[in-house]
Amino acid sequence: MKNTQNNFIAGIGNTPLIKLSGPSELTKCNIYGKAEYLNAGGSVKDRAALALIRDAEEKKLISKGGTIVEGTAGNTGIGLCHIGNSLGYKTIIVMNENQTQEKKDTLINIGAELRLVPPKPYKDNGNYVKVAGRLAKELKNTNNQGVVWANQFDNTANAKGHYKSTGPEIWEQTEGKIDGFVCSSGTGGTIAGVSNFLKEKNKNVKIYLSDPRGSSLYNYIENGELKSEGGSITEGIGSSRITANFAEAKIDGAFSIDDHESLPILYNLIKNEGLSLGTSCGVNIAGAIRLAKKLGPGKTIITILCDRSDRYQSKLFNKKFLIEKKLPYPSWL
Ligand code: PMP
Repeated sequence: MKNTQNNFIAGIGNTPLIKLSGPSELTKCNIYGKAEYLNAGGSVKDRAALALIRDAEEKKLISKGGTIVEGTAGNTGIGLCHIGNSLGYKTIIVMNENQTQEKKDTLINIGAELRLVPPKPYKDNGNYVKVAGRLAKELKNTNNQGVVWANQFDNTANAKGHYKSTGPEIWEQTEGKIDGFVCSSGTGGTIAGVSNFLKEKNKNVKIYLSDPRGSSLYNYIENGELKSEGGSITEGIGSSRITANFAEAKIDGAFSIDDHESLPILYNLIKNEGLSLGTSCGVNIAGAIRLAKKLGPGKTIITILCDRSDRYQSKLFNKKFLIEKKLPYPSWL
């Protein structure tokens, strides 16, 4: 027997790069998506979850029987809970109640303790990230094996995980022939880790942030001011502040992407390429198309395919919801 490992963790990383034919033909560039939805827990956030747990273990903050607490849009929680289950940790997840039912159900079904809170801005003490941090502190003395706040936004073990895995994989898979990398930011872990690795290898690789409407990061990168306009149905991306992970990113420029631009890209990929992707992928691919147009024909651009559409069915394929929001919907529904 070769390459056998008995653990969930063996299924994290080493994801393929998939050529996105429509976006590539449109721009006469080679646009590839890193298929992070193939990670064992179904999203790019499995990598962050693993890096945060390994960090806590190395710092001797947790041992078998311990508890991991985290505030998450869902995907990090799903990753933490699966990894936690495989290593003997309990998981408590704090999540905004407006996230999709699909992600809440997944968390409950895999045994996470789920605490839903009303969405509040970061400056408010009721913000889900702050609630998770306080909860971990309160529970500290209840478990001798340790209670850890994973703190994916400001623990830079997150970005380091991508620096050590996602970045090198992209460099090897493209054999260093990469002109641009584009992705959105939630915690900033992916863009920080990947951008630092790629810029170290070749400082001429262009790194662009693809930011949904309603997020302040586009204006911060382009004009130096944290300011937002509009909104988006996407989940897990966008920010009103500079997290410690995002602060490490090496970024050349940013695109602001509206749902009217990203949703048709997702629907076309389903119809024409058999790829059924989550909402942040639409923003990422829209950004890759914009960067391809900016850099010109013949370039190779990589983006991240974070998760699958099934985590967002109640929004992405809900015709009534989309019509109410005056957004495009799939022609076949
Ligand atoms: N896409 C999805 C679907 C996510 O859940 C997240 C993280 N919340 C991201 C993108 C952003 O990744 P990062 O946190 O590494 O910036």
